[in-house]
Amino acid sequence: MIKIIDEKQCCGCGACKEVCPVQCITMKEGSLGHLFPVVNENECISCNKCEKVCPIINPIKNTEVNQSVYASYAKDDTIRKGGSSGGMFGTFASFLLKKQYLVYGASFDEKFNLSCTVAKRELELKPLMKSKYLQSDMSGKYKEIEENLKNGRKILFVSTPCQVVALKNYLGKEYENLITIDFFCHGVPSQKFFDKCLRFDEKLHRIKIFDYQFRTKIRNGSTPHYFTIKYKKGNKIAEKSKLYFDSSFYAAFQKYICLRESCYECIFSTRERASDITIADFHDINKYIKEIDRFAGCSTVIINTLKGERLWKGCNHQLETWEFNLQNLIDDGVVFAGGTQRPKNRDEFIGDYNNLKFDDFAKKWMNSKKYWKHRIYYMLPKSVRNSIKRFLGV
Ligand SMILES: Cc1cc2nc3c(=O)[nH]c(=O)nc-3n(C[C@H](O)[C@H](O)[C@H](O)COP(=O)(O)OP(=O)(O)OC[C@H]3O[C@@H](n4cnc5c(N)ncnc54)[C@H](O)[C@@H]3O)c2cc1C
Ligand code: SF4
Ligand code: SF4
Ligand code: SF4
Repeated sequence: MIKIIDEKQCCGCGACKEVCPVQCITMKEGSLGHLFPVVNENECISCNKCEKVCPIINPIKNTEVNQSVYASYAKDDTIRKGGSSGGMFGTFASFLLKKQYLVYGASFDEKFNLSCTVAKRELELKPLMKSKYLQSDMSGKYKEIEENLKNGRKILFVSTPCQVVALKNYLGKEYENLITIDFFCHGVPSQKFFDKCLRFDEKLHRIKIFDYQFRTKIRNGSTPHYFTIKYKKGNKIAEKSKLYFDSSFYAAFQKYICLRESCYECIFSTRERASDITIADFHDINKYIKEIDRFAGCSTVIINTLKGERLWKGCNHQLETWEFNLQNLIDDGVVFAGGTQRPKNRDEFIGDYNNLKFDDFAKKWMNSKKYWKHRIYYMLPKSVRNSIKRFLGV
């Protein structure tokens, strides 16, 4: 039976709750709004299924083939622009939809609840595109995906590395009709934390936000981390794209301070992936290929299995690609560079979250006025920013 003594022991995938035959597991809130399973021991029949599906207890290490690695972006500008980096997800998903696949990714509902969602046709794909930097709710999806697979449906499942392992453990066997993609993942804040930050921003600016997008691509932008909100102010509807620290949530996320405890000791961010393909940002692409516009988006793509290789080859004509030597990128620290460092002041952050009113907490920790140095830095011409970076050795 699952028993969480330390929050590090749980990535919040919810597979244990879903597999329990007597439904005696509920997800309860721990620190910073993250959810953790709690077993009603009076109802538990000690079948141990919850432990078997748990990705932390049973991680999958895939060593099927030699991995290959590429820099790539979609030739189709709309798909490239629609993704956080090079539009790999959009390209794979739209290719597979044409082959009658169901595509599972993460999307917001109208109340900004993030959950695993299925797209059955091209028109339904857009909400799934782009990174949403919080934990996606898998409730009901492990079962639904299993039923679809058993009924012979072909499925593409895209999620965090831990949720890909959770799904595979839940299924308990390999399905030829399932393709999985994960991404480099440095961690997830909770839904509750996101909701509170959004309400705080609304109150601060006296607006009502009805659309929030991470990773807006700004032409000649100075960082890949802009966000766009659509909002109502009085009777007016408006849209704004801003630097990440003008959103209280994005500011905290970029400090890596509000993630799940398990993300600071992530056992999934290794080279041996459970997925068929791993996608990521290729932020340092200009070190290797000067002419690629990194703000328009460029991805790292790692092919982990033969199934992944077949998908990659099928989509190749829709992509600009450059092959790299994996070991060289590992040596350069571009890929598999290790997990996220737990910030030294995280305990203070959690203490303040628990003890202060949220508005006071947000003003202390995510106050955009405190980012004046960043603001000046991002206003400087690119050549000056590059000189500063070289000087600081970053
Ligand atoms: C929480 C998180 C942390 C990340 N950390 C890193 C990192 O440290 N380094 C790095 O190089 N890349 C990271 N990425 C991946 C990166 O942001 C891009 O998603 C990736 O480069 C693919 O971009 P794309 O343009 O090909 O596709 P996109 O269109 O951006 O596709 C993203 C895919 O991920 C799914 N997705 C989005 N948010 C979530 C979520 N919260 N949970 C589950 N699935 C989701 C979408 O549905 C879509 O299928 C992270 C992504 C997330 C969501
Ligand atoms: S051991 Fe079985 S019955 Fe008990 S909590 Fe786990 S899955 Fe449920
Ligand atoms: S990691 Fe997933 S399966 Fe394991 S205890 Fe947490 S929610 Fe349950
Ligand atoms: S960092 Fe690791 S544990 Fe955290 S969400 Fe990503 S894959 Fe899961």
